[in-house]
Amino acid sequence: MNCPKCQGYHLKPKKLDNGLIALSCDHCKGSLLSIVQFIQWRDTQETKGNTSQTICEIDETSDLIYCPKCSGFMTKYQISNQTHNRLDLCFRCYETWIDSGEWQLLQQLDLQKNLESIFSEKWQKHLLLKNVEENAEKRIKNHFGNAFNKINAFKMWLDTYDKKNDVIDYLKKRKPK
Ligand SMILES: [Zn+2]
Ligand SMILES: [Zn+2]
Repeated sequence: MNCPKCQGYHLKPKKLDNGLIALSCDHCKGSLLSIVQFIQWRDTQETKGNTSQTICEIDETSDLIYCPKCSGFMTKYQISNQTHNRLDLCFRCYETWIDSGEWQLLQQLDLQKNLESIFSEKWQKHLLLKNVEENAEKRIKNHFGNAFNKINAFKMWLDTYDKKNDVIDYLKKRKPK
């Protein structure tokens, strides 16, 4: 099988993790991983909590790539909102393309044991919603600029104040009820 990214390079079996073999390219160091094989491997692993590490930036395959097995296009799935990296999946063969360094990235995000859930609608929806929330917060921060921290502190205090609604009415210049 040829590498989907590099012309003229064959994929060879290589260890991706302890006991997990993928087909790798010597040139770009990317790997083709069978999801079925991954699930079998994952089920033999103990669940260990991950010590959180800093997330490193890794080059991303932005081009459309074609599955080395069936030559059909592969679909890109966002891994997490903490990184712009995406995994390519062939939904016909159930094989995923992991770029060089992305397995380590998955480990850092503690997602390497839940690889297949990245391709689920639920996870993708969750990322989308989180993204919308984060963008809304960013917009508010930009809008208020330097005053944002003051406003936020006031809001936090206001949320605990029993006459909160009276304060809001007062700010809106309405007569307290
Ligand atoms: Zn390659
Ligand atoms: Zn395929």
